[in-house]
Amino acid sequence: MTRPRISARISAISESATLAVDARAKAMKAAGRPVIGFGAGEPDFPTPDYIVEAAVEASRNPRFHKYTPAGGLPELKQAIADKTLRDSGFQVDASQVLVTNGGKQAVYEAFATLLDPGDEVIVIAPYWTTYPEAIRLAGGVQVDVVTDETTGYLATVEQLEEKLTDRTKVLLFVSPSNPTGAVYTPAQVEEIGRWALDKGLWVVTDEIYEHLVYGDAVFSSIATAVPELRERVVVLNGVAKTYAMTGWRVGWLIGPSDVVKAATNLQSHATSNVANVSQAAALAAVTGDLSAVAQMREAFDRRRQTIVRMLNEIPGVLCPEPLGAFYAYPSVKALLGKELRGRRPQTSAELAELILEEAEVALVPGEAFGTPGYFRLSYALGDDDLAEGVSRVAKLLGEAR
Ligand code: PMP
Repeated sequence: MTRPRISARISAISESATLAVDARAKAMKAAGRPVIGFGAGEPDFPTPDYIVEAAVEASRNPRFHKYTPAGGLPELKQAIADKTLRDSGFQVDASQVLVTNGGKQAVYEAFATLLDPGDEVIVIAPYWTTYPEAIRLAGGVQVDVVTDETTGYLATVEQLEEKLTDRTKVLLFVSPSNPTGAVYTPAQVEEIGRWALDKGLWVVTDEIYEHLVYGDAVFSSIATAVPELRERVVVLNGVAKTYAMTGWRVGWLIGPSDVVKAATNLQSHATSNVANVSQAAALAAVTGDLSAVAQMREAFDRRRQTIVRMLNEIPGVLCPEPLGAFYAYPSVKALLGKELRGRRPQTSAELAELILEEAEVALVPGEAFGTPGYFRLSYALGDDDLAEGVSRVAKLLGEAR
């Protein structure tokens, strides 16, 4: 009997669509084409100097050449607990913190630790590409609540209620959201948290964009909005977006002690501790102030306003105002099926392909986020590139008939 070379579990995992778009754009650039990329969810700023300095110092100190405990440097775990109290009012002990290889590993470990095969997770679509893979790999079943531009991509308790079954174990809650930039009001966060509490659900909440909110929007942590959730809430976070530290790979998971203990056991066999020098850098980041992110937020806010205005000026494109993170998520449904440069793209994936070839602009189609008919544009790129890139898209899409 011939057995498949790749296991069914792993063959079911697809390539990260956002990284694929980014890689394709970089390859075209390397081949000399002037591609402008709106694909990557990565701040264009360098990591602040004082954080880099802390890492340089650590790398010269033999103590940081060794393993740390699998769950992280004790002083970093304490600093993350302190920072969590400072930023979201959620009081936790250092023993409730697990330091992970980026927010991504925290996502995988959270679902691996909470889900048995067949357990259902309610996920609000559009959703970030990594969640479905992490849920499926853990044997979980994703149940989507689909939102759209008419509500600014916000889900209501009534919509969540419709998807509740006796197999539902977890609600995944992400605000500010990747890919839509949607931010729930504190009252909405509390209402959703109370509902999850009443239904006896766990809440996994991804707070990685907590410091990137604009205008009148405020970040509210579901863990503090509904304190009674404390025994059934897992908070995911990291330094990548707040401190422009994507390449350092430091994130964390906060939860009840038994969950953190179990997730730490998993990590101790999979990857052990996060690179010690990176942990030293993260320690400098989370014990420092928030002035660097305040500066980045200003730049992002300016780009956000430009991109939303420019996108909404394109006939057939509809972009609600994103209130957080650094993404715009316009609908392009009105353009599908129209004639453009001799072709007739029927899906947002086909339209994104055409835009990449004809306008040399890379954006991620909504297919990657569970909602075809949309694009995600990251506005974490320089102001000039942003304006030039959207102008090229506008010029091209203006030809659609
Ligand atoms: N959560 C969300 C919502 C994200 O957008 C990202 C990065 N794209 C992450 C977690 C993970 O970030 P990292 O692994 O780089 O820390």
